[in-house]
This record gives sequence, structure tokens and C-alpha cells, in this order.
Amino acid sequence: MENLAGEEVRRKRKMDLNLTTPRIIEKQRGKRKENNFYFRGKIKIEGKKDRLQECKECYKILPLTAFTTHTLRSNGAFALKKKCRECSYRVEAERRIVLKNAPPKPDSCDNCHKNKKLQVDHIHGSVTFRGWLCRNCNTGIGSLGDILEGVLRAAIYLEKDKGKIIEVLNGIKNEVE
Ligand SMILES: [Zn+2]
Ligand SMILES: [Zn+2]
Repeated sequence: MENLAGEEVRRKRKMDLNLTTPRIIEKQRGKRKENNFYFRGKIKIEGKKDRLQECKECYKILPLTAFTTHTLRSNGAFALKKKCRECSYRVEAERRIVLKNAPPKPDSCDNCHKNKKLQVDHIHGSVTFRGWLCRNCNTGIGSLGDILEGVLRAAIYLEKDKGKIIEVLNGIKNEVE
């Protein structure tokens, strides 16, 4: 009788374990994610403190202390900018000068010709105005490296046939001109 009771307890424990295991894993996962932050003074920063990050502007591999905060995540931690502090300040200073001397805003984005809310775009490392872009186009082109090669690389990724790329390119060009 005692043995049976012992068996019953073990079975129940096993069942409980099976029931709770997924939840335990879920909790640990959440904890791991939650643990992936550190403090800069009173500010909670996303990521591991000793990690290195490549600046997407100067391509230097730098400690996280070289990056300023960007957006606030729902867990109360800040994500860091992709540009290092030095580059962020420099590009922002350039942008202010470009903005002062920029031609008037057109009716729509110089790239997609759809969106009407526009940002000034300039050639980084200079104060040369390039155009007025909507946020989508500005961040999209920026994400592809802000250079023709990056944009064309994506074109080749999307379409292997070079002839087809040129065909589409001519179509867009005729539309714009
Ligand atoms: Zn940099
Ligand atoms: Zn656009």
C-alpha cells in the first residue's frame, strides 16, 4: 500500500513536471532576455556590457560605451544607436548645415515620389545636399549602406537576371523623367 502510494506520488510529480517544464523554460528564456542588459548610471541599456559593436558609419569596432542611446524598448531598456557617438555628432552637425542651405521641399519624396513627410538627405562626411526623402526611403537606403553598390547588391539579390534588372531600371527611369 505504501509502495503504491509512493508510486502514485512519483507519477503525479512526473506529470506535474511535464506540465510545468515548458513554463519553466519559458520563464528562463524570458529571464535570459531580461538579463541581457546593464546600467549606464541610472539608464538601463539593452545588450551585454562587454560586447563590441561595429559603427555603421566609420566601420570601427567599438565598445558599447562609444554608442549613445536610441529608442526605449518595452522592457525599459534603451537600444543603442548604430552609429558611434563621434559619427552621430558629426553627421548631425553636417545635417544641420545642409538643412539651412537646402532647396525648398518638393511635394513628395525624391525617391518614391509618394510620401509627403520629408527629411533632408545629404552625403555623409560632407555638407552636400542630396535630396528630400521620406523616412522609409531614407532609412531604407541608409540600411543598404547609403551607397549605389549597396542598393545594387540588393537588386542582384532580388533578381539574378542582369537583363531584367536593366529592363526594370529603364522602366523606372522613363517614369521619373
Ligand atoms: Zn563611427
Ligand atoms: Zn520615399
